[in-house]
Amino acid sequence: MTTQVIGRKMYLAGDWVKRDRIIEVRDPQDNSIIDTVPAASAEDMFQCIEEAKEGAKIAATMPVHERMRIVNAAADYIEANKEKYARTIAKEGSKTIREATTEVSRCIRTLRISAEEARRIHGETIPFDQMPGSENRVGYYYRFPIGIIGAITPFNDPLNLVAHKVGPAIASGNAIIVKPATVTPLSALLLAEAFVQAGLPPKVLSVITGYGSEIGDVLVTHPAIRMISFTGGLEVGEDIARKAGLKKISMELGSNSPVIVLEDADLEKAVESTVSGAFWAAGQNCLGVQRIYIQESIMESFQKSFVERTNRYRIGDKQSELTDMGPLITEKEAIRVENIVNEAIEKGAVLLTGGERKGAFYSPTVLTNVPEDCTISKEEIFGPVVLFYPTYDLDAAIQQSNDVNYGLQAGIFTKDIEKAHQAIAKMDVGGIMINDSSDYRIDAMPFGGVKKSGLGHEGVKFTIQEMTEPKVVCFKLS
Ligand code: NAD
Repeated sequence: MTTQVIGRKMYLAGDWVKRDRIIEVRDPQDNSIIDTVPAASAEDMFQCIEEAKEGAKIAATMPVHERMRIVNAAADYIEANKEKYARTIAKEGSKTIREATTEVSRCIRTLRISAEEARRIHGETIPFDQMPGSENRVGYYYRFPIGIIGAITPFNDPLNLVAHKVGPAIASGNAIIVKPATVTPLSALLLAEAFVQAGLPPKVLSVITGYGSEIGDVLVTHPAIRMISFTGGLEVGEDIARKAGLKKISMELGSNSPVIVLEDADLEKAVESTVSGAFWAAGQNCLGVQRIYIQESIMESFQKSFVERTNRYRIGDKQSELTDMGPLITEKEAIRVENIVNEAIEKGAVLLTGGERKGAFYSPTVLTNVPEDCTISKEEIFGPVVLFYPTYDLDAAIQQSNDVNYGLQAGIFTKDIEKAHQAIAKMDVGGIMINDSSDYRIDAMPFGGVKKSGLGHEGVKFTIQEMTEPKVVCFKLS
């Protein structure tokens, strides 16, 4: 495998190809060009889908042991080249090298779990004789791969969130076409490199780089694509859902996650965990802590120690092991976050720390007294900004937490098991973390939101369920 320094090719159904039109990939911390990738055309996408029809046949007939071998071999390759993968994420994305290294470890794990789950794609026997008149029938169902999957991925986890679609797709015998985020295509191309090294047959996987607005519609609307697996923002997700027509859609969308801290909580642990949950990847994290509801009696002490911890955050060079937080993905994104914070301050919010922008960097920011009619109160900020709300009791906190359109994950800090159970029962979310922030996930758990946070589930085993269909077999005996 050649490692190109500049002028990277995309992976189109088994061939590494260049195109005259290119996209510059920039390092957000200094806006320097680190590489280029092809800007694929609609014709490229049509060609790729045609080739994937052959790929789907090849994938479906690959025995399970071979799928397992390939997915594990891809994980081995990434493990052997961990530094290269982490440096790429920390160059094209906004993660620090420490955050990027964690992502590479998770990607390896995602692939290993995918390989493991390949042998657990089970059906079951069906007791047909429960129906009078069907006493002479026996049968079962098994799960078959659905064919070609179109995967569209976001910038914030440019490797692992691609692996969350590619690993399960190949493990379950499907072909897959990935359209990675335009700003972070290099990590996805490195994932393709790992599968090529692993011996994946050509045409089963493609990674097509380009603009969503130019090639997205072809992928989303093409009848040969049986499923669109999308991770990204609400606006694009809703647009895709409208256009996809009669195919499966899986939507992993945004959120503005709440965390409740009650007066009996371990304050030190609550602060440590919510600071990390709010500022991981500069807050560009679908599980990021955006709203913290704090019982009034501990508001002052929680606030003081949260702000102290935040002020110790080291912001700067992503490639340094000492850096806690890097920039946002572009300066435009940092300006968007700055404007939303300024709007809140103009309407009466109080800035406890942060609120400063330098290029694409935006300092970790804490706001309190945020009026209801601010954008930030209800929408996803997707930046390093957290809001504090005093709350009288658990019921009020749950009610406020639920009073938004999103519902991905939440957290609650309390030692009282009754109160924890109350939150579990009443919070409108896809996952709730007890004595942890909303920002906790392992790659094997079911992952998905309610309300506008999504549709369907990821988490390898659950993704495989979405990427396969049951086929019923019934023998009529004489
Ligand atoms: P985005 O919605 O802007 O882009 C996501 C992908 O869609 C990119 O690959 C983009 O090129 C593509 N795209 C854009 N327009 C398209 C079109 N018309 N047709 C087809 N594809 C198109 O999201 P982003 O800024 O890359 O990522 C941030 C968002 O992703 C946040 O809202 C975040 O919460 C969400 N996210 C959700 C999860 C989850 O698992 N729930 C995980 C990570 C990120």
